[in-house]
Amino acid sequence: MDIINILPDSVANQIAAGEVVDRPASAVKELLENAMDAGATQIDLVVKDAGRTLIQVVDNGCGMSDSDARLCFERHATSKIHRADDLFAIQTMGFRGEALASIAAIAQVELRTRPHDSELGTQVVIEGSHIVGQQPTACPPGTSLAVKNLFFNVPARRNFLKKDSVELSHIEEVFRRVTLIHYDLGFSLSSNGHTLYDLKAGGMLQRIAGLYGAPYKERFYGVEEDTDIVKIKGFVGKPEYARKSRGEQYLFVNGRFIKHPALNAAVEKAYADMLPERSFPSYFIGLQVDPARIDINIHPTKTEVKFVDESALFAILRSAVKKALGQFTLATELEFNTPDEFNIAPAPKGYVPPQPRISYNPDYNPFRATPTQTRLSLEFQRPVDGGYVAASAAASLDDTIDDMAQPEPAGPVDAKPAPNCLQVQGRYIVTPLTSGLAVIDQQRAHERVLYDRLTSSAELKTAHSQTLMFPVTCRFSAADADLFGELTPDLRDCGFAIDAIGQCTFVVTATPPDIKDSELQACFDQMLSDYKGATMQKFANRSQSIFATLARQMAVKPGRLLGLEEMQQLVADLFACPVADTAPNGKKIITIVKPEDFLK
Ligand code: ADP
Ligand code: MG
Repeated sequence: MDIINILPDSVANQIAAGEVVDRPASAVKELLENAMDAGATQIDLVVKDAGRTLIQVVDNGCGMSDSDARLCFERHATSKIHRADDLFAIQTMGFRGEALASIAAIAQVELRTRPHDSELGTQVVIEGSHIVGQQPTACPPGTSLAVKNLFFNVPARRNFLKKDSVELSHIEEVFRRVTLIHYDLGFSLSSNGHTLYDLKAGGMLQRIAGLYGAPYKERFYGVEEDTDIVKIKGFVGKPEYARKSRGEQYLFVNGRFIKHPALNAAVEKAYADMLPERSFPSYFIGLQVDPARIDINIHPTKTEVKFVDESALFAILRSAVKKALGQFTLATELEFNTPDEFNIAPAPKGYVPPQPRISYNPDYNPFRATPTQTRLSLEFQRPVDGGYVAASAAASLDDTIDDMAQPEPAGPVDAKPAPNCLQVQGRYIVTPLTSGLAVIDQQRAHERVLYDRLTSSAELKTAHSQTLMFPVTCRFSAADADLFGELTPDLRDCGFAIDAIGQCTFVVTATPPDIKDSELQACFDQMLSDYKGATMQKFANRSQSIFATLARQMAVKPGRLLGLEEMQQLVADLFACPVADTAPNGKKIITIVKPEDFLK
């Protein structure tokens, strides 16, 4: 008895659909790609209920004739390749001719399409692979494809969908992967009637800012490299903005988002020692290679690719990124070497510098053990009579010479003098204590001060709040928005005024005083990623983790030159904290160089 039969197309398509469309986001990807392949310059994506009930893509591309409008739903129906050889010169996003057939097998699809040179368009309605209607229709040139009730006839799949916030965040991720590299096209995304993104055609950095917020414009260095094997163009994150998770790492090849662990590693390698442990740089890098030297066909969703010249590519990419970052190090070096403060004014004509005097403290004995050796001494050493005043690094030569020649008279013994402070490498404050020379990490010190301030103002309900002149809108992926909503009470406690407007959008109208409104989105993003991350275990409760992130974001960063008064204030504030020697994340703030170490 014969037992083999050929599956009807509708069943075959449903099976194929399982591979191509596993959730609303993958249908979104196929439809966006089709619109781009059709040469559209404006593409609008509309979803309802995270794509469950509606996914619609409207484009102004080439449109389809009325017979193509029917044919496009057939399996292996494609206008993009004609023979096997074409596979090696793919310039389009799609080519397998199975996306629309798959989608039509598992949804109710309504297509309206019109070529630019036709008066009238065509409407096709198809449900579970069966055409239920086709008729001429009046519509704008281009194509609108609406996918309704995805998986209406595949309950097993439907039941596997996650909650809307999760499905929507997958859709947003697809939207980012497509729009980040096609920055020359306009895109929009609206969900349940709210516009989440409206992205104008422009450059890549503008696109990044459109997706992640304006502050991102400041966070990257451009990468550009042009070789025979590959053209590279993109942006790599400044090391100080590295994140605790690998989230914002995007590599594209020929306009397509790809996952390629070796190339991703090439980028990270370029950062070598520039990043703190377990933090990851953000990057958005587009590669352009000869389509014949790459295989994108190894995976149905085409995110995995194989390159012929992989090792060369690896080396070129790494050195291009290094170069971009190298310019950065050089630039900062220069900045540190020639700050205005260190410009030495020329000496007046005929000026004879006085003989420098070496002074010493006759009472000082480096071998005398002080009881404060291990504990931090809060007492600052008064400038030794006639000694060089470290903080006067900011003074001109004349002033310095003055200091040396005419020592300040020592104040009354019981007066609390302001500490002498000197900033080193734009990141440490050095100040003499009775127990030795304190080297203070300026950022960690500031973190500690801000953290204590936030915690106590939240506990005592005395938070200071500063109303913003212009309210700031912050956007999150759906899943993050849920979480952010949960954290808002703690944020309110420490001085924020925050309201939800729409599903994923919040508006901030007031903040604690030390926070920059341009940094808010970044700050909240970091807060969410820290909160989700393992670092959480360090903290006794939720608000502690939140305040630690906030403090870190608000704190002065390495590289900020501090004025003398700023340093004095910071050092005094730090020593007023109950735990002055460790930052909220457990890192050490102060190292004391003991007098006996000087001798060595
Ligand atoms: P593929 O993209 O792999 O060719 P699809 O099933 O996604 O396969 O699409 C089939 C064909 O339908 C495409 O080759 C194209 O000719 C046509 N098509 C699909 N979407 C559009 C669109 N938005 N505008 C114009 N033509 C389209
Ligand atoms: Mg396609």
